Amino acid sequence: MISTAHRDAPGDVLPAPMIPQLDRTALFADLDGTLAPIEATPQAVGPNASRRRLIDALTRALSGRFAVVSGRSLADIDRVFENRVAAVAAVHGLVRRNAERKLFATAVGEGALTAALDTLRAFAANHAGLLVEDKGSAIALHYRQSPASEPASRTLARHLAADLALEVQEGDMVVELRVPGPDKGDAINAFMAESPFAGYVPVFLGDDFTDESGFEAAQALGGFGVIVGARRPTLAKYALADVAAARTWLQRAVDAAR
Ligand SMILES: [Mg+2]
Repeated sequence: MISTAHRDAPGDVLPAPMIPQLDRTALFADLDGTLAPIEATPQAVGPNASRRRLIDALTRALSGRFAVVSGRSLADIDRVFENRVAAVAAVHGLVRRNAERKLFATAVGEGALTAALDTLRAFAANHAGLLVEDKGSAIALHYRQSPASEPASRTLARHLAADLALEVQEGDMVVELRVPGPDKGDAINAFMAESPFAGYVPVFLGDDFTDESGFEAAQALGGFGVIVGARRPTLAKYALADVAAARTWLQRAVDAAR
């Protein structure tokens, strides 16, 4: 059970990670809050020239051992990265596309998500600022623009999950309902069992609750997790202050590999 009681404990002050040797590394990274700053709405994040250059340089230096591991839908990740990243885990691990672009998706039972979607849309229609996002195997209820709706949103999600045999995924200003299935840690384990990742040291960068399983998986395989931002507690062994610091750290790894 992860507790927030020790938020300011000295043990939660994590060191910055060393610059990784990319010729030994398999790199996994979340998108929002990690490679891209959080925006008011998910659609506000789009293709970005400096991020594109960094991702292209990383992919080259890593000989393709780079995967995006995000809660977004696969189509949305491809939109943001302009189809330049082959290996992607989407919807928190429920959908995975490997380096050969072979797709693995968790089967979605008929009914439960449709019923949840109807209820969440009706709820959002009565609460200005709430945004419902249908991701296929998950539905996100974003309350970033309606913070006062957080308690009611989370309560509704919990009740729907219990009634419909779905799982709740808490996040930064969002609560989601998802079908049971693989999480981000499972996705990293699956990538690490395959070419070109197998045999390399996994490093995972993430920021949110959903990334904790990824930190755990990377560390169990002899690598490490890096939390981006101030959220604590965490299983990650290292921390970087924000998205800018994460991008600088990645760029330094690229430069060191030249
Ligand atoms: Mg994130």
